[in-house]
Amino acid sequence: MANILVYTEQRGGEFKSGTLSAVAAAKQLVEKDGGSFSFVVVGQDVGAVADKVKNYGAEKIYLLDSPTLEHPVPDLYAEVVAQTVKAAGATHLLGDASTIAKDFFPRVAAKLGAGMVSEAVEVNGAKSFKRLMWAGNVVASVEVETDLVVATIRGAEFDKAAPADGETPVENMTVDVQPGKCKFVAFEPAVSDRPQLSEASVVVAGGRGLKSAENFEGLLGTLCDLLGGALGATRAVVDSGFVDNDLQIGQTGKIVAPDLYFGIGLSGAIQHLAGMKNSKVIVAINKDEEAPIFSIADYGLVDDLFKTVEPLIAAIREHKTQ
Ligand SMILES: Cc1cc2nc3c(=O)[nH]c(=O)nc-3n(C[C@H](O)[C@H](O)[C@H](O)COP(=O)(O)OP(=O)(O)OC[C@H]3O[C@@H](n4cnc5c(N)ncnc54)[C@H](O)[C@@H]3O)c2cc1C
Repeated sequence: MANILVYTEQRGGEFKSGTLSAVAAAKQLVEKDGGSFSFVVVGQDVGAVADKVKNYGAEKIYLLDSPTLEHPVPDLYAEVVAQTVKAAGATHLLGDASTIAKDFFPRVAAKLGAGMVSEAVEVNGAKSFKRLMWAGNVVASVEVETDLVVATIRGAEFDKAAPADGETPVENMTVDVQPGKCKFVAFEPAVSDRPQLSEASVVVAGGRGLKSAENFEGLLGTLCDLLGGALGATRAVVDSGFVDNDLQIGQTGKIVAPDLYFGIGLSGAIQHLAGMKNSKVIVAINKDEEAPIFSIADYGLVDDLFKTVEPLIAAIREHKTQ
């Protein structure tokens, strides 16, 4: 029977919804193998984060709240989470494949001699998962042979878990950890009034067809703000210096699955599709009817973006004032 520990993603005390995709994966595992799941919350002043997950049907919330854990320094987080896995007698450690989890989960696996699965997209059984390889061209079935399983899941592939009845009790854990080899120096977040790309329900992404940084911000930025969305980009756009690389979507960028995704002036290369193909509704504007993005688009407009995006903005504005 599974005894799963779900890592609760937070940044500066702010809960991250990717956690709920990991909960969905944990629930699938429990359905297949029986057992239960608990949360582990790590950080400083994270009582409010524990509060956010108290009604998802978990057995327990292990709270590791300490000034030492203010920043997600990977060797510290790996040590305290490994201690919690042992104390809880957990069979699985699961988490959303965030930057933080990608950094410290393999260290937990190494400390505890556990098999590690990175970015699982499907749960097949207690120890078997599916994950993508070669930019999503190959689906690999992987089997973990150790007693303990450490796995990150690709959040976009799992619907977020819904709240359940009841309230989960919190267990305060003693944090016993010495500073390790890594030291926190600084965190400089990109400052933007727009929602974060991986959390946004609307994403407006652009490609090389935009031709300049000015067109990108002027046309796509306006459309994006009208829809309350986040801006995204292809790697070609990032490499051209039109936007910062934290806007890149794809195999080597962010994975997004918004309710509505616009792909404008981008071809839909396989490496880009790997990062957005699970979007609920996909709208594409491209002047080339052969562009691969049309093969997965729900709505496609074969036309010049410089003739179509402005009228689209005007039409949305008019609709909003009605
Ligand atoms: C290992 C590796 C990893 C990679 N990782 C990523 C990744 O994470 N994310 C990513 O995006 N890419 C990634 N790439 C790059 C990827 O292969 C493509 O090169 C890139 O996605 C292409 O970007 P694009 O669609 O903007 O440009 P293009 O492929 O050049 O497409 C531009 C499109 O704009 C259209 N267009 C041009 N002018 C107009 C107009 N006026 N109106 C309408 N349409 C117009 C064209 O018809 C064309 O389809 C990776 C590549 C490699 C090798």
